[in-house]
Amino acid sequence: MTGAYPITTHTYDAVVVGAGGSGLRATMGLAEAGLKTACITKVFPTRSHTVAAQGGIAASLGNMGPDHWTWHMYDTVKGSDWLGDQDAIEYMVREAPAAVYELEHYGVPFSRTEEGKIYQRAFGGMTTEFGEGPPAQRTCAAADRTGHAMLHGLYQQSLKYDSDFYIEYFAIDLIMENGECRGVIAMNMEDGSIHAFRSQSVVLATGGYGRAYFSCTSAHTCTGDGGGMALRAGIGLQDLEFVQFHPTGIYGAGVLITEGARGEGGILINSEGERFMERYAPSAKDLASRDVVSRSISNEIREGRGVGANKDHMFLHLDHLDPALLAERLPGISESAKVFAGVDVTKEPIPIIPTVHYNMGGIPTNYHGEVINPSKSDPDAVVPGLFAVGEAACVSVHGANRLGSNSLIDLVVFGRATAHRIAEISKPGATQAPLPKGYEEMALGRLDGARYANGSTPTADMRLKMQRVMQNNCAVFRTEEVLDEGVKLIDEVASGFDDLKTNDRSLVWNSDLIETLELQNLIGQAVLTMHGAAARKESRGAHMHEDYPDRDDKNWMKHTVGWFDGQKVKLGERPVHEYTLTKEVEYIKPKARVY
Ligand SMILES: Cc1cc2nc3c(=O)[nH]c(=O)nc-3n(C[C@H](O)[C@H](O)[C@H](O)COP(=O)(O)OP(=O)(O)OC[C@H]3O[C@@H](n4cnc5c(N)ncnc54)[C@H](O)[C@@H]3O)c2cc1C
Repeated sequence: MTGAYPITTHTYDAVVVGAGGSGLRATMGLAEAGLKTACITKVFPTRSHTVAAQGGIAASLGNMGPDHWTWHMYDTVKGSDWLGDQDAIEYMVREAPAAVYELEHYGVPFSRTEEGKIYQRAFGGMTTEFGEGPPAQRTCAAADRTGHAMLHGLYQQSLKYDSDFYIEYFAIDLIMENGECRGVIAMNMEDGSIHAFRSQSVVLATGGYGRAYFSCTSAHTCTGDGGGMALRAGIGLQDLEFVQFHPTGIYGAGVLITEGARGEGGILINSEGERFMERYAPSAKDLASRDVVSRSISNEIREGRGVGANKDHMFLHLDHLDPALLAERLPGISESAKVFAGVDVTKEPIPIIPTVHYNMGGIPTNYHGEVINPSKSDPDAVVPGLFAVGEAACVSVHGANRLGSNSLIDLVVFGRATAHRIAEISKPGATQAPLPKGYEEMALGRLDGARYANGSTPTADMRLKMQRVMQNNCAVFRTEEVLDEGVKLIDEVASGFDDLKTNDRSLVWNSDLIETLELQNLIGQAVLTMHGAAARKESRGAHMHEDYPDRDDKNWMKHTVGWFDGQKVKLGERPVHEYTLTKEVEYIKPKARVY
């Protein structure tokens, strides 16, 4: 090792890595239970990506019309294309109303109905009467900033319960001993000091890995650090091939342009000036469902009709609409287009591209948040001391596709469940064995390697290579040929990691170093996403395979689990839980998909 890294050691009952909605809910629950709790976060808590969630949080409160948790359960199972684990789904939808009222009591300023109840809006896929009735208004909203309101409410509560926050600390790796998690090592980014957190339990709440792709709606910080740490600890990740896309993210920036823009009359045009959606979806046209529009755009680009110098994106026109209408109905979009694409929507089109919006896959857990590392003898084997929640985890309630507003509810329901489980199995202040000898070697070796990396490919260039391969070969348009080529290309990118180059050797606010560590986390998930997609010979949820257009329950009703040791990929599987949690509801049997 080139550098010397003195370590400060801390001892806690519980440590949470991540301060988004899921991490904060877990943190406050742990502190409330009297456990000495630390929350480590690389950004200030209220800057976590949860802050960007707009639409809302699903719960069958029934404030706007009849609703029931069993209907919410049906919709979630169907949305998951039957890949979701129904015990976990039952748990989530049953707990959802209480979780939302809890947020209300924490001071989250929900929008209100005339009678003063929590306002709920309609969202795609949310229905009544088990899909037979009219759409449900189930999505509880605080205007168009629900995530913002939630995150602030939860942060205040965590402070009330006296948890210790380590803010702008970057968690590098887990400390493992004989398959058990003993703690985590982190770097204080402000001064480069290294901190070992010894803990009875560690919760990974690090969010998604959208940044493996060229275009994503999530923050730059969504680099799947928890998934990277899990892989290096020898834990497999589940269902990564299921990645949700939104058709219109701003090209280059990824910032979301809501469906409302097309709802108001916006149209998509290719390089030949053609309104191509008329060909793909003659009646719904530009307002066809998200996956149809995303696939049509990708197809146009692949066939050479994309716009721009690289012919790699598409135009969304609003400039034929009345400027007064744009100012009244789409002020936010007009501003985003100006800021992120330099475009005046009254005069020019917005450059857009199908954009990664959510990772259904992640670190496998059960509904208590306990991390699972499946083995041949036990597909549900728990990793002692390790938990995961939120988008980093795969519990799996979203299965092959997540319904809008079901992520925010996942965060708080399972954040709370995880805190309860840890409180059950830990003893406040229990004596902990010393950390194993050499526990710091992996983390510090990697840190030092990244800090002094002296190859010829700068981190930013390597990241772009990875992102382009993922965007071109593992996005919405998936065929055997595209995916097989993708496997070859992404493996090449991964094997080039020895050639990384960093320039900044300091330890103070070294973004070159942090971005390199983040890239190392991303690549494992990129590789497994590609391999998982190439292996799954069917179409299910967000994984639409042109050569295998049907869902194949006989052979593929199972979770993919993938391990990656930096060089080699190993793919395995885990059975889907084809049972519910209680006897109050029956297992919902798979039905044919209707497009
Ligand atoms: C633009 C946008 C709009 C959305 N709208 C909705 C919506 O309306 N409804 C809905 O249900 N869902 C929505 N989603 C999805 C939902 O917001 C996310 O899935 C969810 O907020 C993720 O929360 P999280 O707690 O898992 O992680 P995040 O909020 O992403 O937080 C991750 C945390 O982990 C920390 N962290 C990560 N790595 C490290 C490390 N190495 N060391 C230390 N700390 C680390 C970060 O600092 C951060 O605090 C939206 C997503 C996006 C991107």
